[in-house]
Amino acid sequence: MRRVTVFGATGSIGRNTLDLIARAPQEYEVVALTGGRNVAQLAKDAKALRAKVAVTAEESLLPELRARLAGSGVEAAAGRSALLEAADRDADWVMSAIVGAAGLEPGLRALSRGATLALANKESMVCAGRLMLRTARQGGGRLLPVDSEHSAVFQALIGEDMAAVERVIITASGGAFRDWPLEKLASATPAQAATHPNWDMGQRITIDSASMFNKALELIETKEFFGLDPARIETVVHPESMIHALVGFNDGALMAHVGPPDMRHAIGFALHYPERRALPVERLDLVKLGSLSFRPACEDRWPALRLAREVMSAGGLSGAQFNAAKEVALDAFIDGRIRFTRMAEVVDEVLTRLSSNAGHIDDEFDLDMVVKADHLARVTAGEIIAGRT
Ligand code: NDP
Ligand code: MG
Repeated sequence: MRRVTVFGATGSIGRNTLDLIARAPQEYEVVALTGGRNVAQLAKDAKALRAKVAVTAEESLLPELRARLAGSGVEAAAGRSALLEAADRDADWVMSAIVGAAGLEPGLRALSRGATLALANKESMVCAGRLMLRTARQGGGRLLPVDSEHSAVFQALIGEDMAAVERVIITASGGAFRDWPLEKLASATPAQAATHPNWDMGQRITIDSASMFNKALELIETKEFFGLDPARIETVVHPESMIHALVGFNDGALMAHVGPPDMRHAIGFALHYPERRALPVERLDLVKLGSLSFRPACEDRWPALRLAREVMSAGGLSGAQFNAAKEVALDAFIDGRIRFTRMAEVVDEVLTRLSSNAGHIDDEFDLDMVVKADHLARVTAGEIIAGRT
């Protein structure tokens, strides 16, 4: 029996993870499931999978969670410290699928006690890639990518020598507005941005796909995860979302990872690694598919990509600043306080204002420094959005 914990169990990645676990319940002992506001779903899954504990991040929802779990034998807990305690429990495999920087600390806690951390929460690598890798090394934990592009790169690199890698190409669907005229982008609404042409994902990452902030985060994640020189990391728009990433080697070969847009592949790969097991994902019919297409990822349409380049070359704490500013700008867009195109302007301005606080690329940093950088960037983004200087 493998002991597993799922952070963000009520979200899109979390539900897909539980779907795979529920197909072979005899193989897994579910230690902890965590969620946020959706305690009804959390309680239902925790009971069905006989979890030891269900944790909601929202303290105020503890009575409701308790009531829903009454008599089930599943323990109920709430709040930030309960989330961290859940990470300390003895699961060997932990899914990190909370959205945003809130996912960083639970992941670090699991890594520090030697767990395998399946990492969907890309923000952890963007904010604190070095700290994540260092914590895994010191604690004996292992990091496995779950972001589809990074899982694809990881798989293409198995058995390869990193010295032979010339480049990594991360594909992008282009999101909801890839075919919109540029001048229309400023009037895009949150509802329009929250529809994805190919993937079914949480609201925040779907809007980040439309702005390409998601791809920007993924470029930084690629640099951090695989230790690549940013000059070797490319992106291309691939509207069909069938090729998730490609690795180019020094002999001219390009290894592409091709599959339907279903996160259960990358989740399942991380769940069963180092084995490959049958997964319930569609098998592609290439003839039916007919053709695959590619377009340049233009920085005037998607300024987030330019900002990602700046962050990759600045290093240090600029990733934490970038992510925090993006989270605040995204909240403001969702609430109707700023336009779609203002998000990138806000993040750009935060990075410019705080560049002297970002540290140097080679600086080591700890969690406390990441938390402070994140906080300062949130405050600064809030001031810029509110028009205060
Ligand atoms: P969702 O919004 O669908 O789910 C997020 C999960 O995190 C929910 O369980 C939510 O609880 C919980 N949560 C939200 N805020 C907090 C908080 N402050 N503290 C603790 N828990 C919280 O997101 P996704 O599943 O789409 O994405 C999760 C992560 O995976 C993100 O980092 C995303 O970038 C990454 N990812 C997602 C992909 C996808 O296909 N969805 C693909 C690749 C990466 P509740 O809903 O109960 O409030
Ligand atoms: Mg991805």
